[in-house]
Amino acid sequence: MKKYLIIANWKMTPNSSKEATELLSATASAAKKIRNVKVVVCPPFVYLRLFSKNSKVGLGGQDVFWEEAGSYTGEISAKMLKSVGVQYVIIGHSERRRLGETNEMINRKIKQAFKYGLKVIFCVGEFERDESENYLQFVKEEVIKGLEQISAKLFKNLIVAYEPIWAISSAKKFGKGFFHPDTPENAFQMSTYIKRVIVSAFSKNAGSVPILYGGSVDAKNAADFLVKGNVDGLLVGRTSWNAKEFGELLKNVNKI
Ligand code: PEP
Repeated sequence: MKKYLIIANWKMTPNSSKEATELLSATASAAKKIRNVKVVVCPPFVYLRLFSKNSKVGLGGQDVFWEEAGSYTGEISAKMLKSVGVQYVIIGHSERRRLGETNEMINRKIKQAFKYGLKVIFCVGEFERDESENYLQFVKEEVIKGLEQISAKLFKNLIVAYEPIWAISSAKKFGKGFFHPDTPENAFQMSTYIKRVIVSAFSKNAGSVPILYGGSVDAKNAADFLVKGNVDGLLVGRTSWNAKEFGELLKNVNKI
């Protein structure tokens, strides 16, 4: 049976380890009942240790640095992530790109994460969907530059998350003013497009790289993205911060 990958990106929430423990335990018991989903929770770094013993969900970091160790104040290495049981890492999220992360920095982070055997959730997506379709070139460039000089053999640990920036709930906060989910039909087109870009730029065997959709996914639209959008999973922000809503989302996916 196909297992969808559902990534819960907690971003900079919740505010205490007590709340993180409660949210984890509610998320894990919701995930335990769902047969067609693999749930991966990506909490803030300070909560990673709370998760090490929980085998019901996968564990992911929200970022990683490209150097091994040393004088890099505030950074976290791939080796450190591995040492606390992390299996996945989000790289290139638009909220980090907004803080100045470039395609080149993302490429270095991906290389370092692969070196330590982490599964990379590589985020790409356009700021706006213009009528002249420049966004296609924009996304293509993100994909190609992010994966530059990486052996396609390592793509067994690659997951690409297509997240149109205007569809992510934080777009509202940053003044884009029109956050709303994409349509499953567009998600289908974009996931097909991204697969084609990877295959033609890197390897004809790379067609099996999973593509996720992210951007204002909730309990009502999740199943549509998976079925009509034909994506391999979802990257879920805000909805994953509330165990009840996230549990509803999982239940709806379980009906597929
Ligand atoms: C995200 O930040 O990756 C995301 C998809 O957020 P949200 O679900 O809140 O739009």
